[in-house]
Amino acid sequence: MSRGKERASELAVHKVIMVGSGGVGKSALTLQFMYDEFVEDYEPTKADSYRKKLTLNGAECQIDILDTAGQEDYAVIRDNYFRSGEGFLCVFSIVERESFAVMSDFREQILRVKVDVQIPMILVGNKVDLADRREVSQQEAEDLAQSWGVNYVETSAKTRVNVEKVYLALMTDISKRKHGSEQQQDKHKKKKRKCILL
Ligand code: GDP
Ligand code: MG
Repeated sequence: MSRGKERASELAVHKVIMVGSGGVGKSALTLQFMYDEFVEDYEPTKADSYRKKLTLNGAECQIDILDTAGQEDYAVIRDNYFRSGEGFLCVFSIVERESFAVMSDFREQILRVKVDVQIPMILVGNKVDLADRREVSQQEAEDLAQSWGVNYVETSAKTRVNVEKVYLALMTDISKRKHGSEQQQDKHKKKKRKCILL
């Protein structure tokens, strides 16, 4: 194994899961972020995972993206997918009301396996390049996001608007959460030590 590879395997890995109805652009967003290209005809039933090294707020790390594709209809597969995630991009299409209407179901499914209600998550309204065919207003999406306590971002996998931003924002959340929980654990350990001393 080369030294470079060794170092890569030691980098922090942030695990992101793409969720949302079929056709909203989960694969297109993922491929645009990974390879800087708009893929129009990605196999709709294909779930895949991607890994990339990048710099986040000055520190090198890796992103691991799981692009789901309907296999989540099987509860066992879905729960395993969701359990493995450290952060979620909940994607709907602003030109398809139905894809927005089912967002709360996705959130519930995530919270069922991620007991921590503060799990890093962003509500994403994709296909903003088609705003003239908009079926979901920015306001109602923002209201939903606010009721969840998360941010709302509008993206276009076609024009790359906010694509980089949404992944980096989620990774920043994940990274903060990890450091926060490490500190909590440290505190917990210190308390424990004190108890033993007493
Ligand atoms: P998925 O099922 O959620 O993975 O959706 P896909 O990424 O396969 O995209 C479904 C369809 O929507 C494809 O024809 C894409 O080309 C198209 N699409 C995805 N994102 C965008 C976008 O931001 N703008 C436009 N105009 N089309 C998009
Ligand atoms: Mg797909």
